[in-house]
Amino acid sequence: MEKRINGHTGLLALFGTPVGHSGSPAMYNFCFQHDGLDLAYMAFDVNIDGMKQTLDTVKLWNLKGGNFTMPCKNIAAELMDELSPASRIIGACNVFVNKDGKLYGDITDGVGFVKNLAINGVEVKGKKMVVLGAGGAATAIQVQAALDGVAEVAIFNRNDEFYARAENTMEKLAKECPECKVTVTRLEEAQKLAEAIGACDILVNATSVGMKPQEGISLVDTALLRKDLVVADTVYNPEKTKLILDAEAAGCAKAIGGKGMLLWQGAVNYELYTGKEMPVEEYQKFQAEQAK
Ligand code: NAD
Repeated sequence: MEKRINGHTGLLALFGTPVGHSGSPAMYNFCFQHDGLDLAYMAFDVNIDGMKQTLDTVKLWNLKGGNFTMPCKNIAAELMDELSPASRIIGACNVFVNKDGKLYGDITDGVGFVKNLAINGVEVKGKKMVVLGAGGAATAIQVQAALDGVAEVAIFNRNDEFYARAENTMEKLAKECPECKVTVTRLEEAQKLAEAIGACDILVNATSVGMKPQEGISLVDTALLRKDLVVADTVYNPEKTKLILDAEAAGCAKAIGGKGMLLWQGAVNYELYTGKEMPVEEYQKFQAEQAK
């Protein structure tokens, strides 16, 4: 690394708090080095209050781009000079690129999710989707799916503070993507959930159920998992949630965990920063070696 960094090296960074656990610096620095790009990626612990000053500094120091994580994704969208359609609809931003002093913000969680389905042979256009959840990941998936031509998105969320966000997403999509039918129902309505899953092509868990401390739990009755259903989870730790294990046991058409969504979201970001495809296979090999 020391040999790589010089007086011309372009800087990219992750902003949010906490950031110490993030795998992004290791992933992007590996890929920059692999591709011979004179770029380096760092992480800075920043809270919402520090974001205005941070983005002024990004411009002053001419950072090339970077990412935003919690709790800074919403404030970041407010501070960008330009936003992608998905970022504008969601009001959040997880990646930015500095284009001649103007900051362009995008949100790529949903793109990463759709790309991960495509890599697994599942196209979303024209399909009916049930999405459990209405938080950050769920909203990004719902909006991207609608932008990518999904015919129906049935959102189910429990009666908590996220429910209103689902209703808000439905209202926004009615204006922005009127050809996509969006419904919002309480997760507690078991009969309606069963009917919606029975009628859908793709079932997505975008809640934090399945992840620690809710590991070993699934929101879906195994009796609803049929052979022609595609099941996907956003949770990547554990790699296989109870829902994914249940879907495999039921012989569902596909059972796709959240790790690929994370990887492909990173790859989409890399392409935004560099204009190049991320060396995904090489990075995966490197990761596997590191894990030994
Ligand atoms: P969030 O806090 O914004 O939303 C949490 C959602 O989970 C809400 O809809 C909430 O109602 C629901 N929920 C939580 N506990 C529940 C329960 N017991 N029963 C029913 N619903 C429950 O979280 P987020 O940022 O959207 O993350 C959600 C999950 O997606 C996490 O597991 C996260 O790790 C994962 N995620 C994965 C990726 C990826 O790239 N694979 C990206 C972002 C998030």
